[in-house]
Amino acid sequence: MRGTAARKLSGNVMETPVLRVISPDRDEESEPARAAEPARAAESASSPQAGGQLVWTPELQAELANWSRQLESATPQEILRWAVERYAPRFTMATAFGPEGMVLIHMLAEFAPATPIFNLDTGYQFAETLALRERVLARYGMAVEMRRPEQSVAEYEAANGGPVYKANPDKCCADRKLTVLTQSVVGMQAWASAIRRDQSPDRAQAPIVGWDRKFGLVKVSPLANWTKQQVWKTIVDHDIPYNPLHDQGYPSIGCWPCTRSVLFGEDERAGRWSGFQKTECGLHSVDPPAGPGAGSGQKDPSA
Ligand code: SF4
Repeated sequence: MRGTAARKLSGNVMETPVLRVISPDRDEESEPARAAEPARAAESASSPQAGGQLVWTPELQAELANWSRQLESATPQEILRWAVERYAPRFTMATAFGPEGMVLIHMLAEFAPATPIFNLDTGYQFAETLALRERVLARYGMAVEMRRPEQSVAEYEAANGGPVYKANPDKCCADRKLTVLTQSVVGMQAWASAIRRDQSPDRAQAPIVGWDRKFGLVKVSPLANWTKQQVWKTIVDHDIPYNPLHDQGYPSIGCWPCTRSVLFGEDERAGRWSGFQKTECGLHSVDPPAGPGAGSGQKDPSA
């Protein structure tokens, strides 16, 4: 398996993790401050309301954009450390146990193993995907929490006259992923995303740090600048567990009804919702422009 993963590589080298705390107030953006104090701050722009959740303001938007610019050249480890120091214990991560998510779990295990990590267990995941929860627990001692919809698959399909994913995958994803995610992040201020900009046009504009309007969270994407080759080199170098389906032609893995293997030369996400226009489950789709009233902590009804 390790040898198979090695064939995905083309020689990029993972940077050595070095903590670099960057002040948004510094003029010299290219010369980050090495501050001893945590980056956790109580700027007025990001003061939480009751319940701990942040509320969107133009000032918060500007603050996040400033951080994002300064973290643009930071390593994923530096970005994660920044997020943990600033937002923990209100910093969380959702994972589908993809290769990028496994790399982030590996990094968090080194310096923030208490970070709450959860999986949106729709009831339609591959057995190989579910097995990764136990592999993560065995390797890192980190228990990924499985968050499930109220209705089982049988109950859901009975209530809707059959499998909803066949005719209306948007509704199925909304019911079995987005609703569960919204419930799972109550009280949180920030979450880590494992997306890469080169995965799809939708993700190409993802900032390192931004405001996730749909969920009312700061969204941190430490791997936004990484390539598929960097991800797989890290997996091989550190013998990080990964889904064996990746060795069987599945570069991107979601629920089994909505995932197929891809042909040589196809986009790595071409096997997701094949036959539909749909390319995202809604967790990482591009937000509409932020503005007044955005980010109340509730799901944006327009999303
Ligand atoms: Fe339903 Fe498919 Fe979305 Fe899974 S990926 S929640 S099966 S539509």
